[in-house]
Amino acid sequence: MAVFCKNCGNSMNEGARFCSACGAQMNFAAPPVYTAQTRLIRPRAGRMVAGVCQGLSNNYAWDVTWVRVITVLLSIFGGGAGIVAYVVFWVVMPEEPLALPSGTTYVPPAS
Ligand SMILES: [Zn+2]
Repeated sequence: MAVFCKNCGNSMNEGARFCSACGAQMNFAAPPVYTAQTRLIRPRAGRMVAGVCQGLSNNYAWDVTWVRVITVLLSIFGGGAGIVAYVVFWVVMPEEPLALPSGTTYVPPAS
């Protein structure tokens, strides 16, 4: 894959950090990093039972209060659908890893 300086158009070695012709710093697109917010996980912060509602609201930018209200309503008036969905999510969604160092992002193991 050819790489060209965005500043002067000089062709460069792949992975070079600076242009050899003009010295401009290169900003190559970072490889995709899966953060805790882009992957469906059960967060440890803000959870009430197992973190399912909090995880869904984090992932889809929903209000966690409404997620919980709908889950409870479905559990009571939906013939237990809310409870079933909750348990399914509880089993399927991985738990957020313990004790992430500050400033780091969660990268799941390749599968
Ligand atoms: Zn250049």
